[in-house]
Amino acid sequence: MHRKRRVCRSTPKASPSMKASQFLISTLKEAPADAEVVSHRLMLRAGMIKRLGSGIYTFMPMGWRVVQKVAAIVRQEMNRAGAIELSMPVVQPAELWQETGRFQKMGPELLRLQDRHGRDFVVQPTSEEVVTDIARQELRSYRQLPKNLYQIQSKFRDERRPRFGLMRGREFVMKDAYSFDRDAAAAQQSYAAMAQAYRAIFDRFGLRYRAVAADSGAIGGDLSEEFQVIAATGEDAIVYCPNSDYAANMEKAQAAAPAATRPAPQQTLAEVDTPGNSTCAAVAKQLDLPLSRTVKSLVLATDPGDGGEATVWLVLLRGDHDLNEVKVGKLAGFEAGWRFASVAEIEQHFGCKPGYLGPIGLRQPVQVVADREVAVMADWVCGANRIDTHLCGVNWGRDLPEPAHVADLRNVVEGDASPDGRGPLRIERGIEVGHIFYLGTKYATAMNATFLDEDGKPKPFEMGCYGIGITRLPAAAIEQNHDDKGMMWPEAIAPFEVVICPIGMDRSEAVRDAAHRLLDELLAAGVDALLDDRGERPGAMFADWELIGVPHRVTVGDRALAEGEVEYQARRTGAAQRLPLSQAGAWVTQAVGAAKNAT
Ligand code: ATP
Ligand code: MG
Repeated sequence: MHRKRRVCRSTPKASPSMKASQFLISTLKEAPADAEVVSHRLMLRAGMIKRLGSGIYTFMPMGWRVVQKVAAIVRQEMNRAGAIELSMPVVQPAELWQETGRFQKMGPELLRLQDRHGRDFVVQPTSEEVVTDIARQELRSYRQLPKNLYQIQSKFRDERRPRFGLMRGREFVMKDAYSFDRDAAAAQQSYAAMAQAYRAIFDRFGLRYRAVAADSGAIGGDLSEEFQVIAATGEDAIVYCPNSDYAANMEKAQAAAPAATRPAPQQTLAEVDTPGNSTCAAVAKQLDLPLSRTVKSLVLATDPGDGGEATVWLVLLRGDHDLNEVKVGKLAGFEAGWRFASVAEIEQHFGCKPGYLGPIGLRQPVQVVADREVAVMADWVCGANRIDTHLCGVNWGRDLPEPAHVADLRNVVEGDASPDGRGPLRIERGIEVGHIFYLGTKYATAMNATFLDEDGKPKPFEMGCYGIGITRLPAAAIEQNHDDKGMMWPEAIAPFEVVICPIGMDRSEAVRDAAHRLLDELLAAGVDALLDDRGERPGAMFADWELIGVPHRVTVGDRALAEGEVEYQARRTGAAQRLPLSQAGAWVTQAVGAAKNAT
């Protein structure tokens, strides 16, 4: 049979999903009123996510493309760093969680459920238990170590306050990795490899971020870092020194220790009436003193394990400082947990209601812990343990014994001296998108997970764990990159890199033809392009793509085409320029590549 010879196209035909009419685009003019932060509002308006319940969202196709790009970058760099991907169950038997005690300890954040036989299960909030169980079965010899196993998968945490859309969801996607090593030195090498891989990952997203030292919990050591995307709406305060590489989260950050010497007393001890002034700020105002001359009294309690009487502690902080609860938890006697004392306990020991408390004239002795700044103060002001009364001119050693315990117990404030002596500390807000953590043998010991070492003896695995908030990251990217029109995605994680907007495609064959040819050319060059063939009016079409934040737009219309040209516009700068149609594909491909390489 005779066949007509076809022109052989060197470019592949666009798949239907690269056309807007066959994709699912559902933008909204207004965001629901309960969306508080810009990323949540914009993602809802752009139809990227859809709320199904509190903290539970469907990723709509446009949003899922972003999540998939984030996951792909993470996967590539994890593999490059030698980690191995696997997938553990989302629903996990409770027995493993009972081995580590976390079935109880995790409290209401852990979603527990039962099967038809009444057996307990959890929905994974993280997977240390299951991965450690795998290790104790599969990694029997030191010859199999080191190993780093990871997954990219749904997690569920019944957060107390799910909010801000993807930022703090209940169901979310996390990359979680777990390293297994022979000894602490090797585990620290695995940790260092992850620290480096995380920098490679976050560099590729094209976001401004900071790696900050974080608290590593009870096991000590400094091997914990958070990766924070800088954004004013961030939930975390991060502390850094602009002149050095010192950076830590607020829980961990320390100021330089105060001068060792305390000024000599100048004042005599005196009582002052402070009617109704139950806060340091009010007292300082009444006495016309700086807040830093006042001392606030916080009453804490630790309970013995046997149900006996609690120990009551008086923590003294400068009036202008705030308590750091993580630092308190590290005090000797506080490791097993602590709480704020009840009003009854306070009255029993101080003979007074909160608001006028102090360390002098107690009814029953308490353990006094002074923040190290308070320990070097002279002539200070505190409560007199009598309603509406304070003491002035208080001095250690003279009016009360030297403090039994002195420790750093406060949050740093802007302007404090950096602990490395390189200048004042600054504070900015961040969104935690990643966290790496050296665990030691905590899980291996709890679960009796051992391997046979070279000497033939069983040893517990040294572990590390490494998380990335795959679905929090897009929200963080938007918080950092948006304007009044919508999102401005960095190239690497944009849902599409280029959108082609034809004007009057239904009327003009020239437009139709040029737009399709350009789409084919971009796709053939490996550019992630989409053709908006929905037939929307130009204004509505442009507004949609500005909202969705596609970084490059090419407009194809009869007017420019008559001169052999199309119009290009960059989303971020808004800069527009004409391009010859014949060169548009190559030019845009190059612009996409250049922007990607710049990050
Ligand atoms: P946060 O302090 O924000 O609750 P976390 O310390 O509980 O975080 P990890 O257990 O270290 O978090 O989890 C690893 C990563 O998972 C975090 O760095 C964060 O990016 C992400 N993540 C944690 N909780 C949520 C959540 N509720 N919604 C979305 N992402 C989350
Ligand atoms: Mg949490």
